[in-house]
Amino acid sequence: MSSLETFDAVVVGGGPAGATAAGDLAKMGHKVLLLDRAGRIKPCGGAIPPRLIKDFEIPDELLVAKARSARMISPKNNQVDIPIDGGFVGMVDRDKFDEWLRVRAANDGATRRTGIFETITRDTDGTAILHYRIHSSNRLEEDQRGAVRAKAIIGADGAKSGVGRSAIPGAKDVDYVFAYHEIVRVPDAPPQGYDGSRCDVFYQGTLSPDFYGWIFPHGNTMSIGTGSADKGFSLRKAVADLKKITGLEKVELLRHEGAPLPMKPLKKWDNDRDVILAGDAAGVVAPASGEGIYYAMVGGRLAAESIHELLETGNVKALAKARKRFMKEHGTVFLVLGIMQRFWYGNDKRRERFVKMCEDKDVQRLTFESYMHKKLVRKDPMAHIKIFFKDMAHLLGMAKV
Ligand SMILES: Cc1cc2nc3c(=O)[nH]c(=O)nc-3n(C[C@H](O)[C@H](O)[C@H](O)COP(=O)(O)OP(=O)(O)OC[C@H]3O[C@@H](n4cnc5c(N)ncnc54)[C@H](O)[C@@H]3O)c2cc1C
Repeated sequence: MSSLETFDAVVVGGGPAGATAAGDLAKMGHKVLLLDRAGRIKPCGGAIPPRLIKDFEIPDELLVAKARSARMISPKNNQVDIPIDGGFVGMVDRDKFDEWLRVRAANDGATRRTGIFETITRDTDGTAILHYRIHSSNRLEEDQRGAVRAKAIIGADGAKSGVGRSAIPGAKDVDYVFAYHEIVRVPDAPPQGYDGSRCDVFYQGTLSPDFYGWIFPHGNTMSIGTGSADKGFSLRKAVADLKKITGLEKVELLRHEGAPLPMKPLKKWDNDRDVILAGDAAGVVAPASGEGIYYAMVGGRLAAESIHELLETGNVKALAKARKRFMKEHGTVFLVLGIMQRFWYGNDKRRERFVKMCEDKDVQRLTFESYMHKKLVRKDPMAHIKIFFKDMAHLLGMAKV
């Protein structure tokens, strides 16, 4: 057996999923290593719902803006404003937000280390050995290598997870939407109609053939982006077009970046032994909206609970509980949003109808309540029935566009 340092759990990736998992496990009294590549800001619109702020105790100072309404814009430029009654959607800058989460995990007792996951091998007693590389900033120096023993591993290393690809069957077979955004400075004289407390969502085929374009406020800056699963579609051109139609083509560009978004939870998140995935690595981004931060943090928390049970009891069946519990709570919403994306984002005629449908107060209330609080509103069954019939009327083209 090697003399390498042994951790109860190594969490690979210090995004929302990994930082949450590492902090939770450390608080439960385990010896945890949080290994993160570092050096890259996660491309992200940064919109988070109140449920996340409450459940994961996010302080107000991390919110760079509070969105109090959303504007849906149709292909024919029909605009529907949806007020967020009595609440707000929080906007975070991912460089600050993620680092704050990692610092909290360290304060809770996790050891932080910068390193790039490479592979998993096995020690003579069967314990996993996790190998990583420490990138040298000096071009003349070679990268260094390190390794630790891990009784359990959480792969929270994002979409196209290296941990997933090396340990979980099926982790390579995932469909992605590619998203790209530009962080720009809000001009001293913003274009007429710009509102720093409103999220604008563009359902227009020219801006995305199968997803949507967005302008999200971030205080002094804004995120302008779009996404698509169509590899032939130019996201950069679409963002340039979006800037042009909104009078923002001359704004100062601060950063531009893109990343894949997984579109479906993996069928299996663990290896029946000692490795489990969380967050984007497990494929948990909501279809239609692309919302992933809340689901990553929930996934991180559930993975930590499963690993805790494994470490306490040695029962490998504990690992599968994370996915089961996640799907029980959120599976229906993912299914409905998947169907919604396939149908309503299919062509401009349907997008026009979709935005029209959003004028309906019942639709607005139910959609927003379920986004904000991650609960389907059950107290008003009549509203659901009304929406079902309205939805059907739109689907069948019986409602006027
Ligand atoms: C353009 C865009 C806009 C988005 N907008 C929103 C939004 O407004 N709201 C929302 O809720 N979601 C949004 N999302 C989705 C959201 O960003 C993700 O779902 C979320 O970040 C997932 O968190 P995670 O911790 O699973 O993974 P990530 O945030 O991707 O974190 C993975 C971490 O792993 C590290 N890592 C990767 N590989 C290695 C390695 N080999 N070794 C060590 N560390 C490694 C990375 O450095 C990173 O810190 C958006 C995504 C994109 C691309």
